[in-house]
Amino acid sequence: MNILLSNDDGIFAEGLRALAEELRHFHKIVVVAPDSQRSGTSHACTYAEPVCVKKVQLPTMPDIPAFSTSGTPADCVRLGCTSLGFDVDLVVSGINHGANLGTHVLYSGTVGAAMEAVLGGKPAIAMSCYSWKPADFSAAARVALWAVSHVEQNPLPSGMLLNVNVPELPVAEIKGVRLTGLYRQAYEEKHVQFTDPLGHKTYFWMSPTDRPPIEDGTDIDERWVQNGYVTLTPIHYDITCYSYMSGMDVSDFHLR
Ligand code: MN
Repeated sequence: MNILLSNDDGIFAEGLRALAEELRHFHKIVVVAPDSQRSGTSHACTYAEPVCVKKVQLPTMPDIPAFSTSGTPADCVRLGCTSLGFDVDLVVSGINHGANLGTHVLYSGTVGAAMEAVLGGKPAIAMSCYSWKPADFSAAARVALWAVSHVEQNPLPSGMLLNVNVPELPVAEIKGVRLTGLYRQAYEEKHVQFTDPLGHKTYFWMSPTDRPPIEDGTDIDERWVQNGYVTLTPIHYDITCYSYMSGMDVSDFHLR
């Protein structure tokens, strides 16, 4: 397949390198990714300023076409699928440094990149590794190769992406794959407060915290990853709540 790779951790991130190294032997790949860290930018697109695109060489893969951009992950995917002129059958975003589970997918630039692909009519996979600072992406890369072949054999319906999270374990210790729904992530992250050296300004910086273990027996995505399983969640862009809408009554509508 012709696969466009992107991410939100920047074009030289280790997770993207591991993904490219794994897929390049089986697929024709191109890389378009942000020039620096863009985690948490969700589906943001750059409208109010130009986006600079530079051809770059990936250190261990000089033969792979690669471009860094000053834009967001979604900008990268849109450029890669349109203006840069590549044939793209599938977009794979990641491998993210850190999980994208539950409601965190709403903040995720990794998932945002995949969502931009879907809105442009291309199937997409968002890949994330559970650890914030993974030392080893080899299992996640192997899972990505499986996910690509799964999507190739089982084409995704229009509007759908696959969100995949992988524990940081050796390949042999991965217990299996679980289809799971998204759950509501509690906001564990705290803002750390500090003051500039002159004492004039107060700053707050979001600080991720370690995730607490989740009780056994709870059927949520995070518990399965904590227990050594790959989780897989199909996500559709249409977040309309049709079940509630069908029971809504707006017959009281009138404007004073
Ligand atoms: Mn990231």
